[in-house]
Amino acid sequence: MSYQPSQERYNRMKYKRCGRSGLLLPAFSLGLWHNFGKEDDYVNAQTIIRKAFDAGITHFDLANNYGPPPGSAEITFGKIFKSDLSQYRDEIIVSTKAGWKMWDGPYGDFGSKKYLVASLDQSLKRMGLDYVDIFYHHRPDPSTPLEETMGALDLIVREGKALYVGISSYSAEETKAAAKLLKEMGTPCLIHQPRYSMFDRWIEDGLLDVLEEEGIGCIVFSPLEQGLLTDKYLNGVPQSSRAASGRGNGALEASQITKDKLEVVEKLNNIAKGRGQTLAQMALSWACRDSRVSSVLLGVSRPEQLDNSLEALQKLDFSNDELQRIESTLLN
Ligand code: NDP
Repeated sequence: MSYQPSQERYNRMKYKRCGRSGLLLPAFSLGLWHNFGKEDDYVNAQTIIRKAFDAGITHFDLANNYGPPPGSAEITFGKIFKSDLSQYRDEIIVSTKAGWKMWDGPYGDFGSKKYLVASLDQSLKRMGLDYVDIFYHHRPDPSTPLEETMGALDLIVREGKALYVGISSYSAEETKAAAKLLKEMGTPCLIHQPRYSMFDRWIEDGLLDVLEEEGIGCIVFSPLEQGLLTDKYLNGVPQSSRAASGRGNGALEASQITKDKLEVVEKLNNIAKGRGQTLAQMALSWACRDSRVSSVLLGVSRPEQLDNSLEALQKLDFSNDELQRIESTLLN
């Protein structure tokens, strides 16, 4: 049966301005790093995407290398987009990225103009789109002049292949330099995509200040530390979890789930219960709490997780006491 999105979708989500741009992003966006590859269940992927759009999630985040195999998440998204969402193109923000290894030889990695331009062309073909809304450089490249990488982003916008550009995992200093170059070229940097969670707070140490000064938005990834900031690992590693999948490529591994971390997770889980939330919900609300964070990326392996995570929107606020208890738990 053909998909009819919920009429209620825009009443269910909060939208936040992305930096000092004209673009609003949903408080929660959907990331397709895991669970949307060729090896994953297509119907599950389609159900998640439909449910997300029904809930007012207008932003879908991809990258050239998401899969496995690399490229296949864009193919899956393209198929679902074509069958279910193509008539809503103007209601949707699609992003993709290049910067990690995508193909063999000297032109399929890092930050050259050669790589970024070719990679976006490939991504557009895989997704069946004429343009993406946001194109990111996925990670800093220590060897390519920043002028060249930012020049590639500027070119891509001028060619109409992306409406906006962003950077991911750039340090505060690198961000300042990139923002300056892009401003001079007339293509402002829309957004930064850093990792951020209760267990990884590096953006509080300078990056958020730079983003505010420059008027750049911020969309954070791995807010649940890939599942560690949920109650799922408190009694061992479930068979169906990311840590059991052995997928590599930066995916959470069972060896990273240490006794010390689990002790902290247990305490955080109790604070969450006191708020009437699951730990996943509390960790998502916490990641949203700074007004400079424009959106938080959800990664979900099944539709029920999306339902659960979306419930966090009902309780985004924290009392001072709750924040203090979280701080002291994280410090110990
Ligand atoms: P999370 O830290 O939120 O981890 C997602 C995992 O947490 C899920 O796969 C699931 O684990 C578990 N989970 C999610 N919701 C719940 C819930 N309600 N209850 C219980 N468990 C839950 O995010 P990701 O690491 O997946 O990152 C999100 C997105 O960020 C990516 O899809 C991608 O778009 C982006 N990203 C960008 C990067 C970059 O370099 N720019 C790098 C990494 C991610 P399980 O699979 O075990 O069920």
